[in-house]
Amino acid sequence: MNLCNLSTVRELLDRYGLAPRKGFGQNFLINPDVPARIAGSSALGFDCGWGGADSTAPEGVCALEIGPGIGAMTRELSGLFEKVLAVEIDRGLIPLLSETLEDCDNVTVINEDFMNLSLKDLLRENFGDSPVRICANLPYYITSPILMAVLEAYKPSERPQVESITVLVQNEVADRLCAEAGSNEYGSITAAVNLCGEAKKLFTVPAGCFYPAPKVTSAVVQITLYKNGVRAAFDSLPEDDGELDKLIALAKRLIAAAFAQRRKTLTNALSSVSPKEKTEAALEALGLRTDIRGEKLSAKDFVAIAKYIRGDDNDK
Ligand code: SAM
Repeated sequence: MNLCNLSTVRELLDRYGLAPRKGFGQNFLINPDVPARIAGSSALGFDCGWGGADSTAPEGVCALEIGPGIGAMTRELSGLFEKVLAVEIDRGLIPLLSETLEDCDNVTVINEDFMNLSLKDLLRENFGDSPVRICANLPYYITSPILMAVLEAYKPSERPQVESITVLVQNEVADRLCAEAGSNEYGSITAAVNLCGEAKKLFTVPAGCFYPAPKVTSAVVQITLYKNGVRAAFDSLPEDDGELDKLIALAKRLIAAAFAQRRKTLTNALSSVSPKEKTEAALEALGLRTDIRGEKLSAKDFVAIAKYIRGDDNDK
């Protein structure tokens, strides 16, 4: 059964008395190249070109899919990964998925709202300690909360269990996730992503590849989490794990405060988190202008400022 054939999708939904639900952001992929390419990109990692089914994920690596829909991408993941867990909120799709994934022995589907789950527990219960890659054609209305929930579970001092997140999102969101500091697209989510990993836009997906067709173009972004925790990514971080976790937690608070009032100078925007004089001293020490705005600063800059502020605290 070709799950990306429009007549098949319609026939399947009809047979189960279903129709695409706007409230759940249901836009099903009807171009078979796209789920194959997303799953392939996830299996191969960065710079994978077209990806595809020739190369499977490294041994023991598992996949978590958020929102399998009728199972088109789930089937591709099943062929590339050792084990696949798919979390689907729509109860109506569960019997349909039993049919479309009947021959995929390595796939488990659960009927849950991903936002109500503890990612850490979900991974432990289903995958033990195995590395996991997340893959999803995300419902547009909860793209940011889902990404933030995944990033929140990242513990800076540890090698992450989630190695990468390969997601289909609105093109505009893709540009935001991959933006350079100081550009118009740069925002708090960009800096938050860069605290945990690197984002790269892989390819765009025209609206005609979906049923029903959304109003906008979409794109696939891959976020690769820093392999050995943040220590490998930023300069001279504390050796003590507890200290490192506190430092990154402070960097996160600085980012949230800086972007909550992005038109203000950084020193003013951060005043609830750090006294103005201290922020100014940090900026001076880092060779940055004291009237700079947060939107010009990279995640690396925020970590350096946090380090300065905490170092100052630690001296007292
Ligand atoms: N993966 C399918 C595909 O590519 O054709 C469907 C993608 S569709 C854009 C999004 C899917 O996510 C739908 O199946 C929808 O029911 C599901 N979904 C929406 N919100 C969800 C949530 N909070 N938790 C789990 N699944 C969710």
